[in-house]
Parts: sequence; structure tokens; C-alpha cells
Amino acid sequence: MKTILSLTFVLLVTIFTGCYSQSTKKENKMDSTNNNEKSKVYSRTDTSKVVMSEDEWKKVLSPEVYYIARQKGTERPFTSKYETSNEVGTYYCAACGNPLFKSDTKFESGCGWPSFYEPISKSSIIYTPDNSHGMTRTEVQCGRCKAHLGHVFEDGPPPTGLRYCINGVVLDFEKAKEAEKGYNEKKQQ
Ligand SMILES: [Zn+2]
Repeated sequence: MKTILSLTFVLLVTIFTGCYSQSTKKENKMDSTNNNEKSKVYSRTDTSKVVMSEDEWKKVLSPEVYYIARQKGTERPFTSKYETSNEVGTYYCAACGNPLFKSDTKFESGCGWPSFYEPISKSSIIYTPDNSHGMTRTEVQCGRCKAHLGHVFEDGPPPTGLRYCINGVVLDFEKAKEAEKGYNEKKQQ
């Protein structure tokens, strides 16, 4: 009888340990789902506002994008591949996918950061007074997720006279292949 009891005990312990290790596996699976949160909020067509805690943003953004977008950092001048790029396409917010600028409103300002004279639409951008670092400037943020993008100055070219000075790190660029093809064909004629 004693042997049967102790055998049952061993069996129960084995089953319990098995269940426990299974539930640990499940938790790991949940963690990897959390890493895919970027795809949940990142959309180039959804216009609904994105509201997330700083902790959630930290999980879904790369450290570089998080530093600029959420901590209002500034990338070093002349480091963005978009600064002198003149490819035809659209620039989106790297944090949420909101369309921000078209390449035909981009110009070379020489200031060291990608510069545009006009956003895609009024709702692309939020304007906030910024009096930090002893300067009076206007901060520009993404209209959908409030990511810090850069600043706007009144020394830009016509027709707006504005210069949107934007950190390249918080921009995602998509080439307009068809538009570019048409442009090149025209040039060859
Ligand atoms: Zn955004």
C-alpha cells in the first residue's frame, strides 16, 4: 500500500512539473507577441489618433527613434540619408506611419537636416511653442501620434516661406516608383 501511495505521489509531481513548464512556454510566446506591437499602431492609412504610454512606446520603437520621437532629441546634423536625397516619393512618420511630407516640397536648405516647405495636409502636423535652450521656436509634432519631428522656421522658400527642419531618423520614405519612371521617361524624350 505504501509503495502505491509513493508511486502516485511521484506521478502527481511529474504531471505538475509538466504543466508548470508548459505554462512558462506560454508566457514566452506572449512576450514575442508584444514585440509585434509596432504593426498594431503603425499604419499609413489609419488616421485615428495613437495614444500610448511612454513604456509602450519604448517597447515598439528602436532606441534611435524613441530618443527623437518621445524624448524630443535631435540627430547630429548632416547625418541623415534623407538630407540631400531628391528621390520622388512620400515621407511618413517612423513611429506611426502618418503621411507627413511629399518629396516635391523638399528642398536643400543646407542646415543639416531634411527640409520641407509644406506638410501633406493640415492634420499631418501639430504646432507647439518651444522656448527651450533659450530660443523661441515652434516645435512640429506628428498629427497622429505626437512624435517630436523637429521645428518650423520662417526662412523657407516660396510659396509658403516656411522651413520644416525635420530629424531624418523619425522619417520613413517610400519611393513613388511609377511617378519616378514617368519622370525619367519624360527626361529621355
Ligand atoms: Zn506619428
